[in-house]
Amino acid sequence: MKMSSWGRLSAEEHRVLTLSRDRLNAISSSQKPGLAYGMGRSYGDVCLNPGNTLWDTHQLDHFIEFDAKTGMLSCEAGVLLGEIQKIMIPRGWMLPVSPGTQFVTLGGAIANDIHGKNHHRFGSFGDHVFSLSLLRTDGQIIECSLDKNSNWFSATIGGVGLTGLITQACIQLRPVSGPWFQSESIAYSSLKDFFQLADDSERDWEYTVSWVDCYSKHKGRGIFVRGNQSDHDSPYVFPKKLHVPFTPPISLINRFSLPLFNALYYHRLAKKRGLEFIDYEPFLYPLDNILEWNRIYGTHGFFQYQCVIPRAQGLESITEMLNQISASTEGSFLSVLKTFGQRDALGMISFPKPGVTLALDFPNKGSSTLKLLTRLDSIVQAAQGRIYLAKDTRMSKALFMQGYPRLGEFLKYKDPGISSALSRRLMETE
Ligand SMILES: Cc1cc2nc3c(=O)[nH]c(=O)nc-3n(C[C@H](O)[C@H](O)[C@H](O)COP(=O)(O)OP(=O)(O)OC[C@H]3O[C@@H](n4cnc5c(N)ncnc54)[C@H](O)[C@@H]3O)c2cc1C
Repeated sequence: MKMSSWGRLSAEEHRVLTLSRDRLNAISSSQKPGLAYGMGRSYGDVCLNPGNTLWDTHQLDHFIEFDAKTGMLSCEAGVLLGEIQKIMIPRGWMLPVSPGTQFVTLGGAIANDIHGKNHHRFGSFGDHVFSLSLLRTDGQIIECSLDKNSNWFSATIGGVGLTGLITQACIQLRPVSGPWFQSESIAYSSLKDFFQLADDSERDWEYTVSWVDCYSKHKGRGIFVRGNQSDHDSPYVFPKKLHVPFTPPISLINRFSLPLFNALYYHRLAKKRGLEFIDYEPFLYPLDNILEWNRIYGTHGFFQYQCVIPRAQGLESITEMLNQISASTEGSFLSVLKTFGQRDALGMISFPKPGVTLALDFPNKGSSTLKLLTRLDSIVQAAQGRIYLAKDTRMSKALFMQGYPRLGEFLKYKDPGISSALSRRLMETE
């Protein structure tokens, strides 16, 4: 089958093997190297393995055990985060860390050690994994946690699927009084104001995130959103989901539409300023309301670029990145700026680290887009930052090795029967 990731930059042939609880040993009989595939919600090549095998985990979708007193939940790795939320929130428990989409598997969330809008308070997903079962392609099963086989545990959290197949995991949920959040949107006019708002908000607000304009003459302005869980209680009417029905031949996000989109988006959100009650779905997963929105970038797909920059260099480096973007003919609409808290991740090659993270989406225009991304790389490299593997398709080995200094330690745990487009691109020597 031709398989793609969310960025739709390629669609190459793979042999796809659907795993089920009774067919897990199929991973040992793959003649070609395999790789677990969850929902393909990673943007780059971390979930692709062209010419080889993908192990589709969507049938590993069983809930195994739940302790309603402690909030400990065991599930198979193909269970969707959205299913966990739907079933657990009415019981008074919620995922402590959520990415911007709920169409992600538990295995994918662990393997990319995903982060949410509350990193400064709750860290990344791996911080809430109590234990996991890892199946190696030689048939060995390794049970791991912080207390047992702890090196395997920290290699597998954020280990981009390369240490083995996560078959199931036990995670710690957090207690909540319901599905509601109280949220506040604040318009800001410069990056300095963004950093000030982030500093002022982190103590009293659990969730903080912002959209930043990186294209117009107002670049650096944005909308800062902060929120907390709320015990507000009223029936919630789920909005009907929209759907992008087909892929247009060219990207609908381009240099003509972008200034208009940015201005409309800014003024619409700026008008909403103030406090509001909002259900967890639109608050945590606003993009999920438009199904297959990745099609709007046209048949060539798009690059997502996400980096983290140490806080001390944050203002200078992000300013330089926005200058580079606005001086180019490329433009990013979905530009998200947020601070990470002062904690290092558990995973040997996890992405989150203390600093500020910027995520950008660029329509794929070929060499001009790639040139801009290389210029952004130089800024990240000079600032001792790193690029998120879940979003990458093209960073250099040098930038990867500088950004992920525990790579050598990690490679001792790699399963020789597993490979990915990303591991061949960045981790192999030849
Ligand atoms: C709209 C949108 C918003 C997003 N927002 C965020 C965000 O806020 N924060 C964030 O961190 N990420 C975010 N992401 C990225 C996404 O959360 C991650 O890429 C996530 O890992 C995708 O999960 P998946 O189930 O689709 O896994 P895939 O993309 O299919 O695979 C991801 C990796 O996990 C491995 N894997 C999957 N299942 C297993 C398993 N059972 N055992 C071992 N390895 C496995 C794969 O081999 C691959 O290396 C977003 C993505 C989208 C599309």
